[in-house]
Amino acid sequence: MQPFGSLPLRVRLTIWYVEVLAAMLILFIAGTSFVLYFQLFHQLTRFAVQDVETVEGLLSFQPDGRLTLNEDYHNHAQSRYVLERLLEVITPEGRVIYKNERLGSNLLDSAPFAGEGVNGYSERSSRLQNGQRVVLVSRRHNLEGRPIIIRLGYDQAAIWSRIQEFLTASVTALPVLLGLAAFFGYQLARRSLLPLQDMANRAEHITAERLDQRLPIANPNDELGQLAASFNTVLNRLEQSFHQLRRFTSDASHELRTPLAAIRSVGEVGLQNSRTASEYQDTIGSMLEEVTRLTKLVEALLTFSRADEGRVELAVSQFSPLDLTREVVGLVEVLADERHQEVLVSGEESVRVCGDRLLLRQALINVLQNAVKYSPDGGKIWVVVGTAVSGRATVTVSDSGPGIPLEHRSKIFDRFYRIDEARTRETGGAGLGLSIANWAVQAQGGEIRVEDSDHGATFLIELPIK
Ligand code: ADP
Repeated sequence: MQPFGSLPLRVRLTIWYVEVLAAMLILFIAGTSFVLYFQLFHQLTRFAVQDVETVEGLLSFQPDGRLTLNEDYHNHAQSRYVLERLLEVITPEGRVIYKNERLGSNLLDSAPFAGEGVNGYSERSSRLQNGQRVVLVSRRHNLEGRPIIIRLGYDQAAIWSRIQEFLTASVTALPVLLGLAAFFGYQLARRSLLPLQDMANRAEHITAERLDQRLPIANPNDELGQLAASFNTVLNRLEQSFHQLRRFTSDASHELRTPLAAIRSVGEVGLQNSRTASEYQDTIGSMLEEVTRLTKLVEALLTFSRADEGRVELAVSQFSPLDLTREVVGLVEVLADERHQEVLVSGEESVRVCGDRLLLRQALINVLQNAVKYSPDGGKIWVVVGTAVSGRATVTVSDSGPGIPLEHRSKIFDRFYRIDEARTRETGGAGLGLSIANWAVQAQGGEIRVEDSDHGATFLIELPIK
């Protein structure tokens, strides 16, 4: 579990912000201390180099072999400073031949390392026996023909006290800076998240009855604005689906009511007086007709409910659309024959499609039944199987009916949509056949549309071949 997981976002943001800032400031202070140390160290070594040169000029060997510093060095302006340094002169073998008073009993360093002070000045940090840290500079020199190594030490206390001052000032300022950053960071986070609070409040009032409400978009270009816009798009789709669902329910109830009312009135009339057997047969016959219509309607509604739930599993196979067309034509031919219509099938034998044969069969039945329904008696229906420019297989169904006016073409695939309510009621359609056909074709990656034609209606079904 996150340690701050239960805190409000604005508090968590402030904590993250302050944590990051603190880490950065600590890194900055540590880095600056390092740089400061090396700068001061370097400065001291520069002084040391000058002082070593001064010392070189003041040293001399006495007749008894002792090494001394020139008596009157107190009078030299520069050499005065030498007093304040720690001075040690050794032979290349490491024997100490001179030490100044300040150094006392300490040694600046142990025996010289190979090449100490030979080519230029050797600079390093060293610690004396008493624990004192010094900047040490040494230089090899030939005095009166004898090699010596001059070592000058500078107390590092000054460097450390400067660093300590800097650290004290920084560490004192750190909590104040972090406090200020936390305060302003919190205000900033609170202000930036205000629109989110606004959105949450508004979202709470959106219910099924108030799906037309939308979230406020303060700034469409920022992240919160984009979030609100996406949420509003979802709400749009939800509202549309809700409307469709409501319309579907009311259309379905309306369609169910009509045959039920017809059954009821036929039954009531049949019961009013005693009738002959053939009259009762007629009554039962018309009732059964309405029951058939009801059954078809309920089946269509069931298909939709399965399709909407995504419960329909496709049984995909490769098959010949021409064979399927012939099979479907065989089914609808009975209806066509009754009306003396002719159904002509042609096309490429070799074309194969990849899809669910049963679903496509249902789609073709619906389109062909419509062609028969809406073509006049003695009319003709053409079914052609071929290949589109895109390489997909096509099944074209044309009839000799009244055709489909341009303004209705985009809507005839909608559920319960009928061009002419009165005309289709007679022929028994509820406006569901084409929407089932459309769903069945689309479910297998195909497409169905109405094409322009100079006679009747032409439906083009395009199907994937693999
Ligand atoms: P229905 O069951 O009412 O025929 P459909 O969904 O199959 O419903 O068709 C929707 C509407 O499209 C029909 O009501 C009809 O007006 C029109 N339509 C469909 N096919 C044809 C066609 N071949 N010729 C003329 N109109 C058609």
